Amino acid sequence: MTMKIDGQCHCGSIAYEAEIDPKAVRIFHCTDRQVLSGTAFRITAPAAEEDVRFLCGTPAQYRKTAESGRIRIQAFCRDCGTPLYATSAGEGPRVFGIRAGTIRQRRELVPGRQFWRRSALPWMPEISCAEAFETQ
Ligand SMILES: [Zn+2]
Repeated sequence: MTMKIDGQCHCGSIAYEAEIDPKAVRIFHCTDRQVLSGTAFRITAPAAEEDVRFLCGTPAQYRKTAESGRIRIQAFCRDCGTPLYATSAGEGPRVFGIRAGTIRQRRELVPGRQFWRRSALPWMPEISCAEAFETQ
């Protein structure tokens, strides 16, 4: 069951709408995502690229190279710095991991899975998710 969402960066230069599966919303505790989000973990709502439409603005991109050599594009607003999504580099089909904090309906989105639990900060309380994984 899909859900229509919309969102924007903090300054409003970039706005989007998308179709997501609310059950696929997930938490990532890994160290790269801690740094890239500037906080303890990241919450992501995956959406197929063709189900994401930008209403205004074009995100800036930072290309992150993982230890494996795999490149992930981190998209953000060049004006206010809000992280908007991450996706793979190269040809599609691609999935956009939309940053849940930018989604207007975020209060309705309950993460169903968490990944990289072993990297969670030590003070982090247990988060009740249907599934938790120590790594990917
Ligand atoms: Zn902005």
